[in-house]
This record gives sequence, structure tokens and C-alpha cells, in this order.
Amino acid sequence: MKESRFFQSIQIRLIIIYVLLILIAMQLIGVYFVKTLENTFQKTFSQSLNNQVDLLTKFVEPYLELNQEGKSEGKIQEELDGVVKNLNTISKAEIQIIDSNGIMMSTTSIKNRSLVGQKTTQTEVSRALQGIKVDAGTMVDSTGARYRVIAMPIGGGGKVLGAVYMIASMEDLYDRIKDINRILVSGTLIALGLTVLLGVILAHTITNPIKDITKQAKAIAEGDFNRQVNVVSHDEIGQLSLAFNHMTNRLKEALSQNEEEKEKLSSILSNMSDGVIATDDKGKIIVVNARSKQILRKQEQDMIGLDIAEVLEMSMGQIGKYVLGDENNVLIQLMDDHQEVSKQIQVTFTPIHRRGKGITGTIAVLHDVTEQEKMERSRREFVANVSHELRTPLTTIKSYLEALDDGAIEDPTLSRKFVAVARNETERMIRLVTDLLHLSRFDSQQAVLSKEQTNIVDMLEEVADRFSFQLQKKSIDILILTEGEIPSLMLDRDQIDQVLDNLVSNAIKYTPEGGKIEIRTEMPDKEHLLVSISDTGIGIPKKDLERIFDRFYRVDKARSRNMGGTGLGLSIAREIIKAHNGVIDIASEVNRGTTISFILPVQREGSEGK
Ligand code: ADP
Repeated sequence: MKESRFFQSIQIRLIIIYVLLILIAMQLIGVYFVKTLENTFQKTFSQSLNNQVDLLTKFVEPYLELNQEGKSEGKIQEELDGVVKNLNTISKAEIQIIDSNGIMMSTTSIKNRSLVGQKTTQTEVSRALQGIKVDAGTMVDSTGARYRVIAMPIGGGGKVLGAVYMIASMEDLYDRIKDINRILVSGTLIALGLTVLLGVILAHTITNPIKDITKQAKAIAEGDFNRQVNVVSHDEIGQLSLAFNHMTNRLKEALSQNEEEKEKLSSILSNMSDGVIATDDKGKIIVVNARSKQILRKQEQDMIGLDIAEVLEMSMGQIGKYVLGDENNVLIQLMDDHQEVSKQIQVTFTPIHRRGKGITGTIAVLHDVTEQEKMERSRREFVANVSHELRTPLTTIKSYLEALDDGAIEDPTLSRKFVAVARNETERMIRLVTDLLHLSRFDSQQAVLSKEQTNIVDMLEEVADRFSFQLQKKSIDILILTEGEIPSLMLDRDQIDQVLDNLVSNAIKYTPEGGKIEIRTEMPDKEHLLVSISDTGIGIPKKDLERIFDRFYRVDKARSRNMGGTGLGLSIAREIIKAHNGVIDIASEVNRGTTISFILPVQREGSEGK
């Protein structure tokens, strides 16, 4: 495995290819070159042998002629030896001169000296003595040494005087060829060495950028987009590196865009006032935002992987038609521990379609409509209350008018009484409508406060004065207590007057004769003013305290109505105090008395709000 990986490396493969190429090229060149060289050498060798033999024949001929004529043998032989020795330029060649009878007359070989004067039996010599030149080509002896034999007849004109026999070793020639072969082999080895070296360097220039790109690809796979491939050339690899860097940048951009989109989506989801739940095709939750958890009161639960039917407390059959998109709106009610409806949630389902795959999931948008429903209900109640409040005086007026019409008008005492009742009821209606208008101005935020520096203690004195007649009538004592120094405040005087009127008139209304009313002002801290109005009246039961500031809420409807109350006094007082950024509160005990107090922030001159 390891070995195959080694051979899989481009670097190694390139080097092997180079080496093989060089080896094959050198081998081809070597074989061709050596073969040609060998041929040339052999040709030259044979030519020079032949030339020498030719030359020898010419020089030796006169001596052989003399020999033929029968001159002293010893002398000729000596001369022949000299000629042959002088003319033999080829080392390691043996030259023999043979006379027409085949007797050896001279030889250059010391070894064969003993053969001089004996008859030679070589076939080449016999053939030469027959006048045929013999060139036997390259021959190999028993020891494997190569040599060449030439036998040449001496004498012309058909008469053979003798023969020159030459036997030349070719070992020198082959030694030279061997040398050349050796040079070629060492040259090849050097070339191979250089090729490996160059191959390594070349392969490096190719594989290094590839390795770099591979490293970067791995880094990208691990999410690191900050690496860049080094572009060192402008060749194909350089272009690949450039393309790779470009791709990295694009990928980085695409990924950061993707992340941005994801973040946008998640911030939209987490900041949505509606809950969003996405499910897969099996109804299992895959995405859920914080608001959903809040609406479903499952903040501490993960919810991912839960069944949407279970989460929305619906049956599987019920949820099926919503998930399939047959219906898309449902109002679900969540119960509290006492099995009472605590939350109403409007759920809108939208199926997720994927091309070619159909419905792959659903998105449920949860809208908490509890408050809305509550408001709707209180609005309905309010309309019913208003209609009822108007209907009662109108019915009274109508019956009195009818009584007048039926003849009571003839009776001056009765008619005056009836008209007074109708007038009273009309005034109550006017008060009611005025109060409603007042409230509606606060509701639509059209009420504009015109604030001015006001001395609240003076206002309290004035309100006591305004009610002095009623107070006297019911023998109720009123006491105004001021603790510490009360600064003048920025207030809408008319509105605060109305609050004080409503509160003091209530205190008088619900306090029996001989009671006591105490109005107290103090500064609990430098920034706030507290005004409280306490009475020793009938008080309010605990269960009613919670709703006492609601519009038209009265503890005892008949009693309040008889006293001319509209049931809006406390609501108006609360709206006015709220508009002054203050708070109003009530504390009461049945048959003991009631204390209503409000706190107003002290607004110094110049730092006025609205
Ligand atoms: P109303 O016009 O009926 O007085 P308010 O809004 O002023 O309407 O008061 C609402 C109800 O609160 C009254 O009907 C009465 O039952 C109760 N209430 C208000 N002030 C007092 C008080 N000082 N003592 C006892 N009950 C009070």
C-alpha cells in the first residue's frame, strides 16, 4: 500500500519517466554508434592491412625474383627480414614471406622463427600460391581472440613467386571499442544522475504548487478561507492556482453571504413578535423561535424534534389537514392548571413545497391573540355598558314624558316634578357623554395637557371650598394636611382639578353623615409628590378593588346611579394621572374607609415633558 502510494506520487512518476526516456535514448544511440564505429574501424583496419600487404608484395618481389634465380639464401633472408621489419607498421601483426614452394622465408614473429625454412600448410597460403588473394575477414581463435588473415600472391604476369601471409590481431581495435562503450556507459550514468537531479527539481516546480493547492483545498474543507495559493508562474499550474484563489474568494463570499442570510433570518426570527415553527414532512419540529417558546410557555425546553401536534395540543387527524394545506387557520386555546383558558393562539399554517417533491414540511406562525381577544371583549362590554347607561336615563325620560303627555302636564306640581326628573336624567346623560368624550380623548391620545406652574396646596383648599355645601349638608369634616414644604408643580390645572373633584366627590358620596375626610400632601422624596384622600366611608370589598378603575365598574350599581355617578370617575382620574406620568392607587376596608392616593413626578421649570 505504502509502496503503491510512493509510485502514485507525480514527482516519482515524472522522475521514472525521465530516467526511462534517457535510458532508452542512450541505449539506442549507443548501439547505433558502437555498431557504426565498429564497422568503420574494421573497414579502416582491413584497408590498412591490405595496403600494407600490397606494399610488402611490391618490396618483397625483387628478393623473391633473386631467390628464384638461386642467389645465396641466407643473405636474401636477412634482407627480407629487414624489409619486412621496416614496413611492418601494424603492431601485433605477424608477417610471413613464403616462396613459391610454400617454404617460409621470413617471419616477424619471434615465436615462429623456428618455422623459417619449413613448409607452411595454411590453406590461405596454398590458395595465394595459386595466385588468389585471400582475405578471410574477422576470425576468432580458441581463446576467443579476434584476428584477421590476408594471404597475397607475389609476382605478376601469371607467375607466382611466393606469397605474403599476414595475420593481425584485432584486439586493439576491440579494446578501443570497449573503451568507447565504457565512456558511453559512464556518460549514460552521468546523464541519468543529472536527469534524476533535474527531474527532482522540475517535478518539484510542478508538484509544489499542486501540494499547495491540495493543502488549501483541505483548509477550505475545514472552513479556513484565509489561505491563498502562492502564484509563482503564469503557466497552466499558475493559472490553476489563480483559478483556485479566485474560487476560494468566491466561496468565502458565498459562504459569508449565506451566513449573513442565516443571521438575518435568525435575527428576524428571534425578533419577531409572532412565533414561528417549521416542521419536516413528518411534523417534527426543525426550527423554532424564542417567541414560539414564550407563547407556548416552553422556554426552558429545546422543542426541536418534538411533534407539532403534541406541542400545539392538537390531535394527529386535526393537524393533518393543516399540514397538507387544506386549511390554514386555527384558533387554539391553551389551558392553565385550573383547566381555564389562559391563552388564545391564532396559528396560520403554510405548507413548504419543493419542486418535484411535493410538500416537504410546514411553517406555523403563532400569534398570541389573548390580549386582542380580551380587548375585543372589553370593547364589546364597553359598548354594551354605554348603551345600557344611556338607555336607563332615556327610558326614564321617555316614561316621564309619556306621563306628562297622558295628562300629568295639567297638574302643575306633578308636571314640575316630572320635568325636574327628566332634566336630572338629561344632565346625567350629558355628564356621561362628557366623561366618555374625555376618556376617548385619552384613548386616542388626543388629550393635550397644558401644564403650568401650580400650587397644589391652593388647589386642595379650593376643592374643599367647592364641596363645602355638600360637606356641610352631610356634616362631614374635611381636613387638609401638608407635610413639609411643597413646591409648585408643572400640572394641567383643569385636569388635576377634575381628578380631585372626582375623588373628593366619591369620598363624600360614599361616606355617611358625620364622617371625616382627610386630604394629605407630602414629598416622599425630592422627585415625587404624594396626595392621598382618605374617608371614613363604607369602603370597598377586596374582590372589587382589582377592577375598581375599570370603566363602568361600580361596587353597588344602583347606589352609584342613584347618587348620579357614571362609573367613569375613577377611570378618568387614572387616565389623567397616567398622562402626568404618575400612578394612582386605592386601599380600602369595608365599613372603615377608603384611601385613594396618587403620586406625581416633580417637574422643575424648563424640564417639562409635554
Ligand atoms: P361613580 O360615578 O359610580 O362614583 P367611580 O368610577 O368614581 O364611579 O367609582 C367607581 C366605584 O368605586 C363606585 O361606584 C363605588 O362603588 C366605588 N368607590 C369609589 N370611591 C369610593 C369611596 N371613596 N368609598 C367607597 N367606594 C368608592
